[in-house]
Amino acid sequence: MSLDVLEDRLREHGYRVTTQRRAVFDAVSALGHGTHEEILRHAQTVDASLNLSTVYRNLEVLEEIGLVRHAHLGHGSPTYHLADHHRHLHLVCSKCKEVLEVSVDTANPLVEELKTSHGFAVDIDHFAIQGLCSKCQS
Ligand SMILES: [Zn+2]
Ligand SMILES: [Zn+2]
Ligand SMILES: [Zn+2]
Repeated sequence: MSLDVLEDRLREHGYRVTTQRRAVFDAVSALGHGTHEEILRHAQTVDASLNLSTVYRNLEVLEEIGLVRHAHLGHGSPTYHLADHHRHLHLVCSKCKEVLEVSVDTANPLVEELKTSHGFAVDIDHFAIQGLCSKCQS
């Protein structure tokens, strides 16, 4: 996703294009996945006026206008990724902490079943699935 998309989308929603927003968007794009702290460290190299609370606020705006999404991998800060990155589930190994990305379609049978039986629309990629990776089981 390019910076043009960022600028168009911000203007469409009545937000100003600021150096901070650009720096935060760039950081998510460059990192692939990043927590607030990681995004701050990366974005500060471009705009030193950023701090943790401005990173929070700017990520909220980027998420509201549909450019980034977040997921919870564990107990700490959520991780952010660009919304155009193909939708994926995060599988987190509770022993070695490795994070595997698998297609969100893997969960279709469960998603369909919950919809049919309970009328529940699951936000399946919002939380990671915890377990043990193949290496840690042996
Ligand atoms: Zn959340
Ligand atoms: Zn992700
Ligand atoms: Zn493992």
